[in-house]
Amino acid sequence: MTVKLYLESIEAAYARTFDAQVVAIDGNSIVLDRTLFYPLGGGQYWDTGVLSGPNGDINVQEVRGRGDVQHTVETEHQLVVGDEVRGTVDWDTRYAHMRMHTAQHLMSGIAYELFNGVRTVGNQIHAEKSRIDFNPISFDEAMMERLVDVVNGHINTGLKVSDSVMTREEINTIMPPDRTNMNLLPASVRDLRVVQIGDQVDLCPCAGTHVSNTSELGRVELIGKKSKGKGTQRLSYHLLTPSFVRSPSSKIV
Ligand SMILES: [Zn+2]
Repeated sequence: MTVKLYLESIEAAYARTFDAQVVAIDGNSIVLDRTLFYPLGGGQYWDTGVLSGPNGDINVQEVRGRGDVQHTVETEHQLVVGDEVRGTVDWDTRYAHMRMHTAQHLMSGIAYELFNGVRTVGNQIHAEKSRIDFNPISFDEAMMERLVDVVNGHINTGLKVSDSVMTREEINTIMPPDRTNMNLLPASVRDLRVVQIGDQVDLCPCAGTHVSNTSELGRVELIGKKSKGKGTQRLSYHLLTPSFVRSPSSKIV
């Protein structure tokens, strides 16, 4: 099981450089004992970057896996099990994913509040644009405008984003299980990492990377609406550059 350094706290996601050891190799797939690279999951796409080993730099092209994290690198590599490597995550992509993911939580939570408990039934977090599938809903222009206005209002307030560990029961007493999609989580998992925006403006179990304050999001702009059938509609959005951006931590973890 790879230690997921990006998950240790909200702040941990601001680190981009780490030292690790190669513990397994299968062709061009590398497993490390610890990693800052986020693997595909929860709708969020993987981080890219570089592994620097004894024989030079290798690009990380794809990252997958929830237990052992598989870093897919260029085929031409000379790494062997036991090698020490220094990993560096591509910050622009990482930070874009953090901003997009926190914006998704806010939009999903606010939509639930505004539109009769509408659920988020899917999402895709990418660096340039992201999307959320809502059900049941039929958005008109006024509804979309209202959603974006309320979300951008919270962004402008500069709400703190925090994380903690809670039991399912604790989460269910704060937020309706429909809103947090509690039914999608395996019943065997008791303690969950939750990400909270402001003072319970939103609270949701999540293993993704997030910003530390909503002021880092910029402004949400909707760029598309699409019907996906059976009462599901997909909203696509992007984020305009915020006035406040954070730099990555220079610390090597
Ligand atoms: Zn999430």
